[in-house]
Amino acid sequence: MAKILIVEDEAGLRQGLEINLRHENYETVVAADGDEAIRLFHSDNPDLVLLDLMLPKRSGFEVLDHIRKISRTPVILLTARSQETDKVRGLRGGADDYVTKPFGVQELFARIDAVMRRSEVAAGSTRSVCEDHTIRLDPATREATARNQKLKLSPKEFDLLMYLFRNKERVVPRDELLSRVWNYRVDLNLNSRTVDTHVTRLRRKLQKAVGTDNAVIVAVAKIGYRYLGEAAAV
Ligand code: CA
Repeated sequence: MAKILIVEDEAGLRQGLEINLRHENYETVVAADGDEAIRLFHSDNPDLVLLDLMLPKRSGFEVLDHIRKISRTPVILLTARSQETDKVRGLRGGADDYVTKPFGVQELFARIDAVMRRSEVAAGSTRSVCEDHTIRLDPATREATARNQKLKLSPKEFDLLMYLFRNKERVVPRDELLSRVWNYRVDLNLNSRTVDTHVTRLRRKLQKAVGTDNAVIVAVAKIGYRYLGEAAAV
């Protein structure tokens, strides 16, 4: 389930977006000002950001700037009709798209889908199916199974599992996962607990399918993680 950070100071619009996105099975987090947006971006690792430009405390441009310094997470601007120059400035500043208020939810969903697809292509995640005797990951449909049981993975968990699978001949360092799966710039020395949290959740889901005797993904102390599949049985 993809997680969307909604940044909008107008309470009515913010709640409307939240209700509609949840109805479409998105997970949502909401921020009413620029400071909160930045805090939640760090704590909640959204897969996409809907960003209003005119915000209290810190403008949408400042928030966008901050996000782009550390990540390539897709950002869609929520702009007013009169803000033509702002759209251009936002797109130049690294926003992926924009919608003009007032907008219909169907238009917004279509833009979210398109932007998510483009970002997956950019991350190289639309290549071939990953498959062994334990798991099967289909990047085209984003379907994941373990021992033929469907796994309910978040987009980041899916990408993480796929990245580890494709590099299973080695231990993948946390920094590399942050940079390749989260698109974070490695030089910023971001907290690798993000990776650990996601791996823990992913392992829990895998273990439900294959049993606790099979590690599937192993942690290598102080370095990172490695996909072993059921060869990891102990
Ligand atoms: Ca506003």
